[in-house]
Amino acid sequence: MIVILKKNPEKQKVDHLIESFKKLGLAIHYSEGTQTTIVGLVGDTSRVDMDAICANEIVETVKRISEPYKAANRRFHPQDTVVEVCGRKIGNGHFGVIAGPCSVESEEQIICVAQQIKKSGAQFLRGGAFKPRTSPYAFQGLEADGLKLLLEAKKATGLPVVTEIMSQTHIDLFADVDIIQVGARNMQNFQLLKELGHSDKPILLKRGLANTLEEFLMSAEYLMAGGNNNIILCERGIRTFETATRNTPDLTAIAMIKRQSHLPVIFDPSHATGIPWLVEPLSKAAIAIGADGLMIEVHNNPEAALCDGAQSLNFEQFDQVMDTVKQRVAVEKKVL
Ligand code: PEP
Ligand code: MN
Repeated sequence: MIVILKKNPEKQKVDHLIESFKKLGLAIHYSEGTQTTIVGLVGDTSRVDMDAICANEIVETVKRISEPYKAANRRFHPQDTVVEVCGRKIGNGHFGVIAGPCSVESEEQIICVAQQIKKSGAQFLRGGAFKPRTSPYAFQGLEADGLKLLLEAKKATGLPVVTEIMSQTHIDLFADVDIIQVGARNMQNFQLLKELGHSDKPILLKRGLANTLEEFLMSAEYLMAGGNNNIILCERGIRTFETATRNTPDLTAIAMIKRQSHLPVIFDPSHATGIPWLVEPLSKAAIAIGADGLMIEVHNNPEAALCDGAQSLNFEQFDQVMDTVKQRVAVEKKVL
């Protein structure tokens, strides 16, 4: 981090500022030029409050040279992280496919979907029990009953389950869930992130609708700062001016995050596009650009789905997508 001081700062104030940096355990590189005085801060600056420094009367500006996230940063952890759930791995050459309906609707439905996606080669079952819906009048999910049904489907098929949490007050209800999803709308629910950071559950963290990659990684940092290192990131498209697709898939984000972070990154073509026929080409593209997995919405009868039916694949379509996924994953020399 570099702190540029205003012209001719009072020596006593400079000494005081430098002393405050030293107290944070930082080493100082001081350079006094004819026009500008620069104070370089060396060490872990992730806890340095840039705004507080800017507020100092002798400071002109502050610039960050390194990223504000440390635990999620590849710089300090060059090896890819592998998240292991019920003996299934995601990351560092292990590719994972999570599939299932947007929401759990009934016992027959979730077991039927679980059996079919398993047959097609998916390793994890998804299904929302607590649904973040735009309208309060839309189906809100089966809530705690939905979680029970998911566990029934796990019992019937052996597939580990992934489901979304919306409130920290529900954490105990999620005790038997295998991967807890934090959805796009809660990516910056910092209280939820803090509490999940103290659990040892694997977390699937989805990118917010309008969040930068740095904000995304800072949310992962919240989880990791609490001691939870089992984080899978999910790119799910972002809001742009384009209306042809539900969101705009940001495939570049996958390559960017994989360069900046050691955490596994998966892609959700269903929410990223909102269009079933785009799921296959976007899945191919995501695999090619380095994704560690996919999350795809699949429904037994998309036309009658209580949530996101229009973007869900039927069993036949999913089976076809999985054929392609298997081939492309092998091309990338990864294992499914
Ligand atoms: C979901 O996965 O069902 C979901 C609500 O996704 P997102 O948070 O990405 O919108
Ligand atoms: Mn959905």
